[in-house]
Amino acid sequence: MFNKILLFLGLFLAFSNCSSKINGNKLDEKSETTSMNNINNNSLRQPETEEQWKERLTPEEYNVLRKKGTEKPFSGKYYDHNSSGIYVCKGCGTELFKSDAKFDAHCGWPSFYEGIDKSKIKETIDRSHGMIRTEVTCATCGGHLGHVFDDGPQDKTGLRYCINSVSLEFVAKENLDTTQIKR
Ligand SMILES: [Zn+2]
Repeated sequence: MFNKILLFLGLFLAFSNCSSKINGNKLDEKSETTSMNNINNNSLRQPETEEQWKERLTPEEYNVLRKKGTEKPFSGKYYDHNSSGIYVCKGCGTELFKSDAKFDAHCGWPSFYEGIDKSKIKETIDRSHGMIRTEVTCATCGGHLGHVFDDGPQDKTGLRYCINSVSLEFVAKENLDTTQIKR
């Protein structure tokens, strides 16, 4: 009888551990599934051909990152995402933006007033669609991220990096491996 009680207690403990884990994941499913280890393992195998990029990315990611497309406003998963962590390049895992620099620009895309490291973001004049804009790409893999405008918060940098959600992958603060992050 005593053994049975112990067994029951053990099962109960195992189950309650398990359910608290599941609840934890439910809080922020997307961020919980991405760890810096996954990102770094992926970035070791950088695609070289467009065919390889197509295999790695979803059609929408490919269209934005490799073909300079734009996701529909208010459709991306990060425009209204406020968890603490960093945003890395979806194409190669390079750390691009901190959540601390994210602000609500009401434009329908995730907006940041600065990047983690200027050298990781390349700026190019973009004269497409009858406008003159500054395109921003990942300096590591060349993936199209979005554009930078000078109507950002004046009490910060005055810049607004308007970035497609599909070009980014969010890594929650608790999943950051501090040994791999150099800031
Ligand atoms: Zn990249």
